Amino acid sequence: MENILEKLRQKGYKITPQRRAVLDAFQAFETFPTAQQLLTAVRKTHPDVSLDTIYRNLALLTELGAVHEIRRSSGNVYELATGGHHHHHLVCTKCGKTECIDMCPISDAYTKEAEKKGFLITGHIFEFYGLCSDCRKKENNNR
Ligand SMILES: [Zn+2]
Ligand SMILES: [Zn+2]
Ligand SMILES: [Zn+2]
Repeated sequence: MENILEKLRQKGYKITPQRRAVLDAFQAFETFPTAQQLLTAVRKTHPDVSLDTIYRNLALLTELGAVHEIRRSSGNVYELATGGHHHHHLVCTKCGKTECIDMCPISDAYTKEAEKKGFLITGHIFEFYGLCSDCRKKENNNR
């Protein structure tokens, strides 16, 4: 948490009470919260905060690498990037269960291919979609 606040300060962003509240709200969740769930948590201390404000803060925090945005068809979820450690996610397309996977599928080949076009890669978003173990069991039982 402190290293995220430090990162914001270094980039010249103020730690407004709202930003602090959004970051603090993550602590209330064991799994990855949606923006709506974060809003509910933030409103406990800041009743006047709108969903728009949450989205704006999440967009900024994502851009700064303080938060990971994980795309799901049922609604994006967010994760606090506490370690600043780069990794990807497994997203269940049935129940929405989201898990971290400690690997990155991007190799130098992509960087080289992009360079041929004069393009400098500064980041990427990658999610694996499929069925979680619980949903796979259910699928097998229905057969
Ligand atoms: Zn599932
Ligand atoms: Zn993760
Ligand atoms: Zn990666």
